[in-house]
Amino acid sequence: MGGGPAGLSAALVLLRARRILVAPGCATNCQTFPASESDGDGTCCTAPASGTLIPRTAVFVRPRFVPNAELLTGLGCEVDEHGWVVHDPVGRTGVAGVWVAGNAADPRAQVISAAGEGSAAAIALNADLVDEDVKRALADHRAGHAASAPAHPTSSI
Ligand SMILES: Cc1cc2nc3c(=O)[nH]c(=O)nc-3n(C[C@H](O)[C@H](O)[C@H](O)COP(=O)(O)OP(=O)(O)OC[C@H]3O[C@@H](n4cnc5c(N)ncnc54)[C@H](O)[C@@H]3O)c2cc1C
Repeated sequence: MGGGPAGLSAALVLLRARRILVAPGCATNCQTFPASESDGDGTCCTAPASGTLIPRTAVFVRPRFVPNAELLTGLGCEVDEHGWVVHDPVGRTGVAGVWVAGNAADPRAQVISAAGEGSAAAIALNADLVDEDVKRALADHRAGHAASAPAHPTSSI
């Protein structure tokens, strides 16, 4: 659900208009009850942090995605305030040679977008490696020329 607080308020209005109750707080204590014990028409009730029992026929709980980023943080990658590794649009992190894609970097990624991010990261990574190879070859080339060049050239072309 995007759009920050304004987007959330708008979404709540839409859900209420569809007669979908949104219970604030974490649904940490969901229980099922026989219909005879619940004062509603359903068999499922939720007791959020407040302890209030809310008779429902179904409960939808939105999961909170938590990054599994120990490997990346162990390598020194910076994380944002929610624990997700900071990276540029092609997945490059602040640590040289470390790239991220998919759910390692983006909790909203689905299969198709995770694969797309992986592809974009691979293309950029390959370009970085080629760039590194070219720089090394150029340095070797210059060093080779310097070593083989006469100290006092007698002619030039
Ligand atoms: C319940 C559920 C339903 C979903 N339904 C859909 C759907 O219908 N359609 C859709 O497009 N997407 C769906 N998704 C999302 C989809 O699964 C992900 O977007 C996708 O799998 C991301 O791919 P990924 O390669 O980034 O991560 P993953 O598929 O999670 O792959 C990461 C891999 O890295 C491994 N790993 C982690 N840490 C380490 C480590 N330190 N060393 C070695 N290996 C490690 C993990 O074991 C895992 O195998 C669903 C996700 C969930 C949880």
